Amino acid sequence: MLLAARAASAAAAAAPELPPLDATTSLLVVAPHPDDETLCCAGVMQRVARAGGRVSVVWVTSGDASLLDLLLVERAVFGSAAKLRELGARRMREARAAAALLGVPAGGQLFLGYPDRGVTALLGPYHDSAFTSHYTGAAQVPYAEALFPGHPYSGVSLERDFAAVLARVRPTLVLAPSPDDSHPDHAAAGRLALAMMAQRGALAQLRGWIVHGGEGWPSPRELSPGLPLTRAPLLAGAPLASFGLTLAEEDGKLAAVRAYRTQLTILSPFLLSFVRTTELYTAAP
Ligand SMILES: [Zn+2]
Repeated sequence: MLLAARAASAAAAAAPELPPLDATTSLLVVAPHPDDETLCCAGVMQRVARAGGRVSVVWVTSGDASLLDLLLVERAVFGSAAKLRELGARRMREARAAAALLGVPAGGQLFLGYPDRGVTALLGPYHDSAFTSHYTGAAQVPYAEALFPGHPYSGVSLERDFAAVLARVRPTLVLAPSPDDSHPDHAAAGRLALAMMAQRGALAQLRGWIVHGGEGWPSPRELSPGLPLTRAPLLAGAPLASFGLTLAEEDGKLAAVRAYRTQLTILSPFLLSFVRTTELYTAAP
């Protein structure tokens, strides 16, 4: 009985390993905001690129809702709607620089431009009608460099754009946020990826990651490149697969984190604490 219980708990601790990462891999990372792709997945991204596979990132929002960023980077919140759009454009430039360091070609850098802190609303009350961002004042994708500028801020439109990305990338592996992530945009983007992959009968290709994983996590809150990432409190009990980074991949991850100048201003210890010897992934629920 004891042995059986022990075997069951060992099975619960490990998710299926990631599939082989090679020249046939088409990896799609689903990032709710610029920087998430680096924090969650920089190791796997570099491994796929190095093996000759294709790496793409889809950013659901452009991170254009941070008044704190604005205050610290621009030193003002006056005229904030226009300035937040400028911040979104700046974060997209940072994302391109980080992604390029991780082996993502320009053609694989896909911005949808939906509203930061608005993804939950799009998948709920604004599924069929346009939502207006409380931050940028936009009710449609305002960024010329997005995949579909001018698309309305509705759930229907987001689902259509996400489906277009899947059709373009034809991923063999999708790394998306866990619906258990405590940031509402992350949880909502995770539910979206789950629904779209389930519709396609492709859940076996979906793995989850978490960035906002619970109070105080990752611990310690500092750059700790010799330590493995520990299990996030919000994923207690979920089977996890551990992916080990090489030293060069850890260095690459650190360089990509450092490309996010606007975010390092306010979140430096948090961002740097993801540079570890491992990344952890859940299987699709
Ligand atoms: Zn995020």
